[in-house]
Amino acid sequence: MRFLFLGTGASSGVPVIACKCDVCMSSNLKNKRLRTSGLLQANGKNFLLDASPDIRYLSLKYQISHLDGLFLTHPHEDHIGGLNDLRPYFFIYKNKLPLFLSDSTYEVLKYRFSYLLDRFAPNIVTDKRGEISLNGLNGRYFTYSQEGVFVNGFRFGNFAYVTDIKDYDLSLFEDLEGVETLVLGAINEAHSKMHFTIKEALEFKKKITSVKRCYLTHLSHEVDHESLSKSLPEGVLLSYDGLIIDV
Ligand SMILES: [Zn+2]
Ligand SMILES: [Zn+2]
Repeated sequence: MRFLFLGTGASSGVPVIACKCDVCMSSNLKNKRLRTSGLLQANGKNFLLDASPDIRYLSLKYQISHLDGLFLTHPHEDHIGGLNDLRPYFFIYKNKLPLFLSDSTYEVLKYRFSYLLDRFAPNIVTDKRGEISLNGLNGRYFTYSQEGVFVNGFRFGNFAYVTDIKDYDLSLFEDLEGVETLVLGAINEAHSKMHFTIKEALEFKKKITSVKRCYLTHLSHEVDHESLSKSLPEGVLLSYDGLIIDV
């Protein structure tokens, strides 16, 4: 499998509108972050993880010709705001797009995107954890939260995608046992009510001893790619838009 980091930015993206900070003004392309989304490619199929508000631009940029499934982590705007822009995929392929999401995310889609719902073949889960089987892709999902909003993480083999995490039960470490490549949400070094700080992410990662590579994502404009990269321990990397990894 291959994983493409489509967007790796926090909800406002980087640069932030009208901001003149060093990171927003930086010419380093690794400091240009669209809203968080990823593309998992397995057996010639494309599975989109979250529909970033930037998905139209990203689909064109990376020439994503088709989708075979969509996973949604949670219903915050930076993860579902691009749903409407997926319509061309529906026009090209008449079949309903397999969609994996929780019941709480589906509730939001019902009033935000009611007109789109007949385009999807939804697989709505109500339990906190369980198996995934979506259009030939098998894995597991689990649940954590940010400010009371439930968020789903996904695991496919030894690859796990865990973004927008702040609060979790210790049982999450059982879900992640044996994971070797971990994509983990972290927003900045200072403080956040909604997300791990870099330090919290490092502490979390340390508890999963099997992890060989941990890629931090959902980064804000307070993170300068080059300077923070130098201070990270071995095996922890900052992701950036366009990064492709084998998983
Ligand atoms: Zn800024
Ligand atoms: Zn987010």
